[in-house]
Amino acid sequence: MLSYTIPGDIEEAVALLDEDPNPTIVGGGTVKMPTIAAGDSGFTSVIDISGLGLDEIHISENVAVIGACTKIAQLAVHKELAFLHSAAKSIGGPAIRNLATVGGNIFCHGDLAAALLALNAKVVLHSKTGVSCISLEKFYRNGEWDGAILTEVKFPLPAGKKFGFSKFSRRKLNSSTIVSAAVCEGDSGMVLIGLVGAAARPTLLHVNTNLLYDVYPAPEVCEMAAAMAADFESPTDSHASGKYRQQMIPVVINRAITEALAE
Ligand SMILES: Cc1cc2nc3c(=O)[nH]c(=O)nc-3n(C[C@H](O)[C@H](O)[C@H](O)COP(=O)(O)OP(=O)(O)OC[C@H]3O[C@@H](n4cnc5c(N)ncnc54)[C@H](O)[C@@H]3O)c2cc1C
Repeated sequence: MLSYTIPGDIEEAVALLDEDPNPTIVGGGTVKMPTIAAGDSGFTSVIDISGLGLDEIHISENVAVIGACTKIAQLAVHKELAFLHSAAKSIGGPAIRNLATVGGNIFCHGDLAAALLALNAKVVLHSKTGVSCISLEKFYRNGEWDGAILTEVKFPLPAGKKFGFSKFSRRKLNSSTIVSAAVCEGDSGMVLIGLVGAAARPTLLHVNTNLLYDVYPAPEVCEMAAAMAADFESPTDSHASGKYRQQMIPVVINRAITEALAE
C-alpha cells in the first residue's frame, strides 16, 4: 500500500527516505502526482516536503539563497531576481507556476536549470550521509541523486554582469522545451552558458574569452559554444529529433546572448 507522509523537519524526511524500500519525494507535485495518481508508479511511499519551510528567498551580500520549495511563481515576481523573470515565466502556465517548485524543476531538468547553471549556482543536498553543497554543474555531471533531498540553491547575483535567457519550444507559451540557453559573464574572461535540452542532462559550457561582449562578436562566442556542444548526444523525443536540437543550439545561444546585450 502507498503511504503519504508530510514530515515535520528535514531530519525526519531524510530518515523516511532511508527507511522505505521505494520512496519518492514530492515538491509541488506537477510531474510526480499524475504518475502516483495513475497508480502504476511502483513507489511504496510519498514524502511530501512542501511543509518544511523551504519556500523562502533570502538575498544578502549579493548572494541569493532560494529554498527548494519556492514556487516558480514567486521567482517570476521577485524584484531583486528580475534577471530570472524571463526563465521563470517560460515555465508552463500560471497554474503550473503556482505549484511547481525550484527543486522539482532542477530534478526535472527544467528550464530554470539553464539559468542556474549559467549563474554558477550551488545546491545543498541532505541525505543519510549528511549535508553537502556542490555546484549544480557537478550535481548534473554526477548523475541521479536518489536518496537526497535538495533543500536550497544559491548563487551570486550577476550584479553588473550581462545575463540573458532564451527558450525555444514548438509554441511560445506552455510548451515543452526543445532547447533553453542562458548566458552569463563569468570571472576572468569566461562566459558561462547553461543549456537544457541539448544533451541528456542540463550542461554548463565554459567559453573562454578574454574579450567580453562589448568587443567580442556574439556570433563567435556562439560559434565556440556550438562547436563544444557538437559533441553532445542531443536527445530525440516527441518534441524534436536530436539532429534538430543540434541545429537549434547555436540559434538559441545566439538569442540568449542578444537578450544579455539588450539589458
Ligand atoms: C502542463 C505542464 C507544463 C510544464 N511546462 C514546463 C516548462 O515549460 N518548463 C519546465 O522546466 N518544466 C515544465 N513542466 C515540468 C514541471 O512542472 C516543472 O519542472 C516543475 O518545476 C517541477 O517541480 P515540482 O515541484 O512540481 O516537481 P514534483 O512533481 O514535485 O517532482 C518532480 C521530481 O523532482 C523530485 N523532487 C522534487 N523536489 C525535490 C527536492 N527538493 N529534492 C529532491 N527531489 C525532488 C521528485 O521526486 C520528482 O522526481 C511542466 C509540467 C506540466 C504538467
